[in-house]
Amino acid sequence: MSRILFATSEAYPLIKTGGLADVAGSLPRALLGLKQEVRLILPAYPEARARMGKARTIASFELDSHQLNLLQGRLPGARVTTWLLDCPVFFDRPGNPYLNEQGQVWPDNAERFALFSKAVSLIAQGKAGIDWRADLVHCNDWQTALVPALLDQESRRPATLFTIHNLAYQGLFDQATFTKLGLPAHLWHHEALEFHHQLSFIKGGLVFADSISTVSPSYAKEILRPEFAYGLDGLLRHRRQVLSGIINGIDTNEWNPGTDPRLQQNYNRRTLAKKIIYKTALQQHFKLAEAPDTLLFGFIGRLVEQKGLNDILASLPAILKTPVQFVFLGSGQQEYEQALRELAAQYPDKVAVQIGYSEDLSHRIEAGADAFLMPSTFEPCGLNQLYSLRYGALPVVRKVGGLNDTVIDSTRENLENDSATGIVFTGTAGDDLLDALQRTQKLYTNKAQWKQVQLAAMRQDFSWRRSAQAYLDLYQTSLKRNPKPLLT
Ligand code: ADP
Repeated sequence: MSRILFATSEAYPLIKTGGLADVAGSLPRALLGLKQEVRLILPAYPEARARMGKARTIASFELDSHQLNLLQGRLPGARVTTWLLDCPVFFDRPGNPYLNEQGQVWPDNAERFALFSKAVSLIAQGKAGIDWRADLVHCNDWQTALVPALLDQESRRPATLFTIHNLAYQGLFDQATFTKLGLPAHLWHHEALEFHHQLSFIKGGLVFADSISTVSPSYAKEILRPEFAYGLDGLLRHRRQVLSGIINGIDTNEWNPGTDPRLQQNYNRRTLAKKIIYKTALQQHFKLAEAPDTLLFGFIGRLVEQKGLNDILASLPAILKTPVQFVFLGSGQQEYEQALRELAAQYPDKVAVQIGYSEDLSHRIEAGADAFLMPSTFEPCGLNQLYSLRYGALPVVRKVGGLNDTVIDSTRENLENDSATGIVFTGTAGDDLLDALQRTQKLYTNKAQWKQVQLAAMRQDFSWRRSAQAYLDLYQTSLKRNPKPLLT
């Protein structure tokens, strides 16, 4: 049994902006099931505090002239011991973990997450007044990437694993910020945190962690190439011996059409016909034409370039000349929000958009949509396609990253051997997506084949069982890689 400190900036259901929260909310629970001693730690945002409910202060300590409290409670719905790091000046604010209510990044994000990382490294070493220390710290994304760099200063330390959930977000700040944070001076070096005269938080993880992982095997290979790595491919190639990819699992209690409390009538593979109830409900909710036989695509996600919005906007006008419907749920860049609204205004009975975030509606879209649109230009893992498989909404995806690892194209051969689970396309132009949408339409006209693919999709097992075991193996490897292990 190992003592694992799982450090993250978000964890569902305490606080969520994206896939990291889903992982942080479900992997620790799976690890607990594998008999590990896990502690989940994240900042004490007001929402997280409120949702955690009962909590008690287990430590108080001073760090960089801030008085910090560590609150202990449980992750709702799980037995995972959860620690919220309370530092009101930095974390007791409205808005999401990274942005204010106007959608702008908090100007002191470097200070906020540097302090969080410093606190995590103290807590991991048992230096914050708690009678517990970690054998391994599992850090996630740039907000916790300084932890491996800080621990590297120590003569004895826990092992470290750094997981990249999205390499596009690196935590880049200017040199003055580096000075302000009071980090050890020697870390200002191109073989440490400096990246083209900037401070790069993510390099703390990439340079110093004993192991690096990312959230799919394909993405682990892609980020060794310049097109996917934003200048970090050289460093990643240098560390490729310790880099691996583990596909994310999904919370199969949360995402299960057979038990989903958001669905009045649950369905499974044997009662798939009930999906029509949710399709009709979706058409009503979005005020689209109530057409049971019209192919309905769903889209849920951040409205950013990564999610393939340029290709969607380029290919939709052509496909909208045919009988088809689209529902979009998401928020993000204004120009995409605006373009989708305009499309909906132009095709009111075919396209509908809800700008915003709704956990509830996202479940109902998965249940009601025939197909799920996810043409991301890159996708470290992607969760929505996994939810879609489970809900029998066939994913239409580009062959990148985790999408490539989880969806099997409906080629003639794959249809014949009953392995097809969706539509996979290659290429980077709007035409490639248009072609994929047309292929989806063609498949949809063959009701028997469509159902066969739906059933195959719903049979897929992306529960945490396998992936949590893979993390456990990686923890063991990381413990062996740690050159300065703790004395037991
Ligand atoms: P990313 O982490 O890049 O945003 P993922 O597919 O890995 O993409 O995970 C996104 C998660 O956030 C999924 O659980 C998805 O359902 C959820 N999500 C994204 N946007 C919305 C939204 N507008 N409403 C509800 N859920 C959303």
